Amino acid sequence: MFVDKVKIFVKAGNGGNGAVAFHREKYVAAGGPDGGDGGMGGSVIVRADDNLSTLMDFRYRRKYTAPNGQDGQGARCSGKRGENLIIRVPRGTVIKDAETGAVMHDMSDSDDYVLCKGGRGGWGNKHFATPTRQVPRFAKAGLPGEEHEVILELKLLADVGLVGFPNVGKSTLLSVTSNAHPKIANYHFTTLYPNLGVIYVEDGVSFVMADIPGIIEGAAEGAGLGHDFLRHIDRCRLLVHLVDVSGSEGRDPVEDFEKINAELAGYSTELAARPMIVAANKCDLLPEGSDNLERLRACAAEKGCEFYELSAATTQGVRPLVLAIARRLKELPPVTVYEPEYVKPLAQAGGLEQLQIQHLGDTWIISGDWLAQLINDINFGDYESRMYFDRQLRKSGLFTRLEELGIEDGDTVSIYDYEFDYEK
Ligand code: GDP
Ligand code: MG
Repeated sequence: MFVDKVKIFVKAGNGGNGAVAFHREKYVAAGGPDGGDGGMGGSVIVRADDNLSTLMDFRYRRKYTAPNGQDGQGARCSGKRGENLIIRVPRGTVIKDAETGAVMHDMSDSDDYVLCKGGRGGWGNKHFATPTRQVPRFAKAGLPGEEHEVILELKLLADVGLVGFPNVGKSTLLSVTSNAHPKIANYHFTTLYPNLGVIYVEDGVSFVMADIPGIIEGAAEGAGLGHDFLRHIDRCRLLVHLVDVSGSEGRDPVEDFEKINAELAGYSTELAARPMIVAANKCDLLPEGSDNLERLRACAAEKGCEFYELSAATTQGVRPLVLAIARRLKELPPVTVYEPEYVKPLAQAGGLEQLQIQHLGDTWIISGDWLAQLINDINFGDYESRMYFDRQLRKSGLFTRLEELGIEDGDTVSIYDYEFDYEK
């Protein structure tokens, strides 16, 4: 079973809570507050792994949660961080937001991708151990870890995609040119999942070719195999269209050629416009006096495609085709990498009644679920982001409420691990 598309739910760990603790030492009376901070929650990180070739591992496990950070302890000890959870996927996996389908990240290079950030730990009461702030009985909760439902979709990374009717010799061609060992047999649909082969042309020159399950008529409308698999050649820089010119199954090569082209066009106009080399296979079986080869050659010329004759079985003509592919690839742009299009919707202010406000000396400590989400989304190093935060707080009516409660200019407003001086 080949699995190349799955939906999973991921959640990063929550930050640990800060501790309320007091210094204790023999002969020292009434030590100050020394509760440590909570540890940061583990993040969910996605990593491309070249040893994987399908998303099969995700079929039976849909939920991935990174551990929470530990709570802080006395003696200024911070809680332990939650370990990051590493999710391994085959190279070429595209991560999409499940709700909108927007691309979040394309795992085609080797950089790790932080899919969900762990929540920051809450402050222990050691932060409040200043002479002006007599609020030592207070510590803060950790922030929640991010969570997300995503779709993982494998889109193989290959320079060349082999297309053609079933049984024309695609798998045979891949096996005689590359390190791959695809299944080959004289019946339709022996290839049930895509194969990738690396083809070494000469020192320092190689390319990757993908053999996908046969495309059949009507595949673009969802009939049979094929349609699903076309996504694996979406990224290919060049298509090699293999045609059986021997007419061995009573089929006509020109008709086959046109049908496959129509399938490609039905799937995407972009794919149909991809540079293509036409390769006439099974030339060793060409019947005496057949005009198949010439008719196909004319057809390819009309489409502006280079044309090659070969026999994958005897390997006659295979090398010239490989060289032609390598030559074309040199001129073509690199394999497509999908740009991220997903924009995280920022958390919004909720109701005032959901907030807890604590007034301790000249410090106002505010917490609540929506506020925790909001603070997670704010980048305090960025002006726009700070302004957004300010607007949301105003919208919630928090400042009006604080005024009613008697807040004064210069008091500290303390929201999780963010603090600022209040100004009217
Ligand atoms: P695919 O479905 O396109 O992957 O086709 P396969 O590679 O599985 O080949 C189908 C059948 O055609 C197998 O029996 C192959 O041995 C045979 N075949 C492939 N290429 C040639 C060729 O050039 N000449 C001959 N005589 N048979 C071939
Ligand atoms: Mg095959």
